[in-house]
Amino acid sequence: MGDQVEHISLDADQCYRVLDLNFAKEDLKIYLASGYLIFAKPIGGAHLGAIFVTSEEAGDADLLLLPPTRSERSSLAKFTGSPTLEEHFKVAAFIFTDGTGDQLFAQLEGNSSAKKSPDMGSLMAGRWTTVLADLVASFETRVVYDILSDRRDTGLFYMAISGNELNNFDIVYDPTAQDQILAGRLAYRDNRMYFDTWTSFQARSFRSAAASGNAASPRGVHFGLDNIRIEATIAPDLAMQAVTRGTLNFQAGPRPRFVVPFSLSPNMQITSASIDGRPAEVFDRESMRANLISNHDDRQFLLISESALDPSVPHEIEIHHEGAVIRNAGNDVYYVGSRGTWYPRTGVDLARYDLTFRYPKTVTVAATGKPLEDRVDGDWRITRLKTDMPLRFAGFNLGNFQSVVVERNGYTISLYANRRLESALASTSKPQPAPIAMPQEQFPHPRHPRVDDLATQPVPTDPAPRIENLTKNVIDAVDFMTEQFGPAPIQNLAITPIPGGFGQGFPGLVYLSTLAYLDPGQLPPQLRERSEATFFSDLLEAHEVAHQWWGNLVVPASYHDDWLTESLANYSALLLLERKKGTKALDAVLDDYRNHLLSKTAGGASLESAGPIVWGSRLESSLAPDAWRTVTYEKGTWIIHMLRRRLGDEKFLSLLRDIASHYHSIGTEQFRELARQYAPASPDPDLRIFFDNWVYGTGIPAVKLSYAWHAMKLFGTVAQRDVDASFAVFVPVEVQTGSKSTVYWLATGTDPAPFSIPLKSPPTRVTLLSANCLMTTSR
Ligand SMILES: [Zn+2]
Repeated sequence: MGDQVEHISLDADQCYRVLDLNFAKEDLKIYLASGYLIFAKPIGGAHLGAIFVTSEEAGDADLLLLPPTRSERSSLAKFTGSPTLEEHFKVAAFIFTDGTGDQLFAQLEGNSSAKKSPDMGSLMAGRWTTVLADLVASFETRVVYDILSDRRDTGLFYMAISGNELNNFDIVYDPTAQDQILAGRLAYRDNRMYFDTWTSFQARSFRSAAASGNAASPRGVHFGLDNIRIEATIAPDLAMQAVTRGTLNFQAGPRPRFVVPFSLSPNMQITSASIDGRPAEVFDRESMRANLISNHDDRQFLLISESALDPSVPHEIEIHHEGAVIRNAGNDVYYVGSRGTWYPRTGVDLARYDLTFRYPKTVTVAATGKPLEDRVDGDWRITRLKTDMPLRFAGFNLGNFQSVVVERNGYTISLYANRRLESALASTSKPQPAPIAMPQEQFPHPRHPRVDDLATQPVPTDPAPRIENLTKNVIDAVDFMTEQFGPAPIQNLAITPIPGGFGQGFPGLVYLSTLAYLDPGQLPPQLRERSEATFFSDLLEAHEVAHQWWGNLVVPASYHDDWLTESLANYSALLLLERKKGTKALDAVLDDYRNHLLSKTAGGASLESAGPIVWGSRLESSLAPDAWRTVTYEKGTWIIHMLRRRLGDEKFLSLLRDIASHYHSIGTEQFRELARQYAPASPDPDLRIFFDNWVYGTGIPAVKLSYAWHAMKLFGTVAQRDVDASFAVFVPVEVQTGSKSTVYWLATGTDPAPFSIPLKSPPTRVTLLSANCLMTTSR
C-alpha cells in the first residue's frame, strides 16, 4: 500500500476540461471557472489526488475562506494583509482521503458537457506527476492510515495552491483535528523552517454542533496505551535499545480495525513489533509537511495487524526500537534529547509505567517513578521504577551524578548534580555543538546565551556550588505548592541537570539547566544582571517543580490553553519568590516582563502584538520567532497577576486550589467560568471584558489619568493610547485620603473614559497602580 501511495501518478486518460465546477468543503469554497482537472490513478479504488490548471486563455479559478471569529480574521490579516482569504489561482494540487476526489470524478463522468482531454492529460501528467507524488509523500503516513482505516468521515482534504497574489500556500480540512480548517504556508527565516498558520478554526458543521449543545469533539478513533512497560539498555556509546510493551484500548467503530497510529522520536528506529504476540507490520516513513503543520517534533508510524482487532478486549502491543536519544556534552555530562518521545506513544491518555534501565555502572539513571530495584551486575547497573498513579508521560536522565536524597512530608526528593561542568561551560577550547531542542513543554529562557558565547567566559570550577541552596529551594517549592494546591500527582521527585538554558518539568522528573547549579556570581557575566540571575537562581527550579501541578496534575485542554499551565507554573514560582523576598521582587520580575513585551521586533511592532496568547504555538511564526515564548510565559504571567489583583489573594488562591483538586484538564473558557465564580461584583462580573482584551486580544495601553476633586466627588478621565480603539479594560487606581486608601478599577477609553467617585474630603494622593496592571503610565 505504501509503495502504491509513493508511486501515485496522474492518469492522462482521466483529464477533464472543466467549466464552472464549484464545490465546498465546510467553510472553504472553490470555484474552478475554466481549466483542466486531471486525476491520479485510483489506489484501492479511490481517487486520492488531482491537479487543476487554468486554461491558457481566460482561464480562472478562485477560492474563498471566511474565518468566523475576529481573532482568526486578525490572524489571517497579519499574514496576508486581508481578514478574508479570497484568492485567484492558476494551479492547485489536491489530496483527498475523504471521498471528495471520487465525488468530483463521478460528477464529471456523469456530466456530458465535461469533455475528456487526453492530449492535455499527457502534458499535465508529464509536468505534474512528480509534484503530486512529492506532496502525497509528505502526508504518506496519514494517507495510508486513512486508506487502511476505510473511514471517509475522518479523511483528509488538502489543497496546495499557487495563488496569483499570495504565491504558494496550503489549505487543510482535517476532521480529526481540534481546529478542522487550517490555512498557512511553509516559511523560512534565518535558516529555519516554520509553518506559518494564517488561520485555523473549527469547521462550520462542528461549530453548529457545538452551538446546539452537542459534543463537537474531533472525529476519529480514540486510542490509549496503558500499563506501559519499557526495558531499555543504554550502551557505553549511549545508544539505546528498548522494548516497549503496553495494553492498547480503543473505541469500537463501524468497521473492523487493523491499523494503530503511534508517534516516536525521529532519532529512534523500530526494529520489530507485535500485537498479541503475533508479528505486526510497521509502516514508518517521514512525513515532514504533516509534522510541520501539526507542530510535532516526533514522527508518526503505523502498526498494522494481520487480523482485525476486537475493540471489546485489550490488546498487548510490543515494539522493539533503538536509536541515539542521548548525546555527550563533554566531561561526562549528557544531554537527553527526545525527552517526551523516546518511547512509542498513541493517544494522550494518562498511563501507568514500569521502567527498567540497564546501563554502564559508571553512570546513574534518574527517571519517573518509585524505585523498585537498583543493583549492579558486573559492569552494568540495573534500575527499575514504577508509577502507581496514571501519568501524562515518563522521562529519564542520566549522568555521572552526585546526589542528595531528602524525605519530606511523604515525598522523596532526589537532587542530582553533575560532578563536572559540561565542556561548553568548563573549557576555553572549542565547545561541543549546542544540542538545544524546543519541544512545547519546556521553559526556555527568553534570551539564554548561545553555548559558544559562554565558552569564552571565565571558568567556574565547581559544577554544583548551589546544590545545598538548590535542595532547599526545591523543598521550599514542594512544601509551598503542596500547601497551596494539595498533593502532587507523584511522591517521588528527581531533580536533574541538563545542558542548555532551559528546564522542563516531567511527572516525577525535573530537568534543570546546568546554569541553575551555579552560584549567581559564577554565572557568565552577561547572565549576572538582576533578571537573569533571578531566573537561574530563584525561578527556574520553582517553575519546573510547579509543573508537577500545572501541566502534570492538570493538563491543558488544547494548544490554545498551553499558556494556562505555563503561566500558572510561572506564577506559582513568583508567589514563592514573593513570599521569600517580598512584593518588590515580584514586581521587579513583572517589570522586566513588561519591558520584553513592549520591545520592538524588526518590523517595528511590539513583541506582544504578535497575537493573542490563545494562538499558542502558532505565535512561533516566521514573522516573530520570539513572540511565542515572550507572550506565553511573560504576558501569561501578567494575565494571572492581574486576575489575582482583581480577585484578591484569598479568592485567587481558592480558585487555584479548586482547579488543582477537581480538574484533570483546563481550557481557557473553562478557566474564565471558574474565575468568575471568585470575582467580586464589578462592571465586568463574568470577566468577559478582561478575557476579551487580555486573553483573546492584544494590546498594552499607555494610560493617562486626569482628575479633580469638587463637590464631594473625585471626577476625572482615564485615557489610553498605543492600542486599538476597540481595546477597553479596567485599570487599578489607588485613592488615598489621609491614612485610608482604596483601589478602584476604572474603565479606559481611546476617547477618555470619565469617572466620578464620591469622596468627602480631597484626596492626598491618586495613583495608577502600574505594578498591578500590564500598562504604562503616560503624562
Ligand atoms: Zn514551564
